[in-house]
Amino acid sequence: MNYKASDNIQDLQYFGEFGGVNPSISDSSTYTFLSAKTMFDTFEGNTEGCYLYSRHSSPSNLYLGEAMAQLEGTESANVYASGMGAISAVILQLCNANDHIVCSRTIYGGTYAFLKNFLKKFNISTTFVDITDIDSVAASITSNTKMIYCESVSNPLLEVADIQSLSKLAKKHSIPLVVDNTFAPLSINAAKLGADIVVHSLTKFINGSSDCVAGAVCASKDFCLSLKDVNNGAGMLLGSTMDSLRAASVLKNMRTLHIRIKKHGENAQYLAEQFQKDGLKVVYPGLEHHSGHKIMTAQMNKEYGYGGLMTLDVGSLDKANALMELMQEEKLGYLAVSLGFYKTLFSAPGTSTSSEIPLEEQEALGLSQGLIRFSIGLDNDIHRTYLAMRSCMERLNILENSTVLV
Ligand SMILES: *Cc1c(COP(=O)(O)O)cnc(C)c1O
Repeated sequence: MNYKASDNIQDLQYFGEFGGVNPSISDSSTYTFLSAKTMFDTFEGNTEGCYLYSRHSSPSNLYLGEAMAQLEGTESANVYASGMGAISAVILQLCNANDHIVCSRTIYGGTYAFLKNFLKKFNISTTFVDITDIDSVAASITSNTKMIYCESVSNPLLEVADIQSLSKLAKKHSIPLVVDNTFAPLSINAAKLGADIVVHSLTKFINGSSDCVAGAVCASKDFCLSLKDVNNGAGMLLGSTMDSLRAASVLKNMRTLHIRIKKHGENAQYLAEQFQKDGLKVVYPGLEHHSGHKIMTAQMNKEYGYGGLMTLDVGSLDKANALMELMQEEKLGYLAVSLGFYKTLFSAPGTSTSSEIPLEEQEALGLSQGLIRFSIGLDNDIHRTYLAMRSCMERLNILENSTVLV
């Protein structure tokens, strides 16, 4: 039978304390033990199914973790208070002082800052590479490299990682491949393709309602338990635990993920095709000329589409800002960072979500100042949206400079 993440999530059934169709929310930070011996065993990590303290685990967090493990097809998953909470815990769990990381040069700005600046405290260094160039990834691996880190579809340039090839390379060197799959849940099953550890910012598509920050780590049972270890677990000891009430809320939103992902992808594909016809500089993995189109097509679950993210280069930061302000005025979406909301969100990554990356490096990456990142919403009539966006561009003379393809 075909592996279908959304079916697996749907097959999870819950019987709440009073027979409710949603699991009861665990509203406790601490848990009673009927025997003192069980408490000791739980501290030692020997007792399955016993709760100790909610920074370690809670029933609500385990329910959401179970759904995340089904999504990625991993043995287990832990949930965290944010995507960065999940990412930093994984990295600090895998690395000791003086270790080395090989990482894609186009990644989320927060992850970039963590690797490049924060980890200096521990003399952990990172080589940033073009992740689509497997030879240069291989050449960057040294004897103290502890992981290859990348995003399945990168932020904000939408580069597509060849997870299967990277996984082979990582296995050859006996190091884990860590993949941030925030941009492509359901479309790409990173773990099925060979990623050892998959991290997510649940803040984005998975929760989908822009009402909280949240994160997850999907991995083997052993690795997930190691993160929770009371003596050595980065998750447990750094304390970026998700609140139980929030875990219950994210779980409920996650049940419509498959419907939302299809709609985000369908709408983004439509707009990208139209803007391409208009001669605009549009980047979207669903377009044939996109550098990662072939790899994405080979790796993805087709029914979910190429994702909700698209970029448009309108030439200059001034034009980008004017267009975003006008689109917001016209109720086409919000000038806001983040992604996966029901309304379209747009921002200029060079001066916002990727501003941690120095200007010269941004230019070298192809991250130009006129670039707008769009997270396309769930608009019912996307042709109407297209016409309205086009009219904003016409008013700002943005279409004039485009080279219309015939
Ligand atoms: C937003 C984001 C993160 C960080 O997640 P938070 O929930 O904001 O901590 C990490 N990776 C990617 C790709 C993101 O888009």
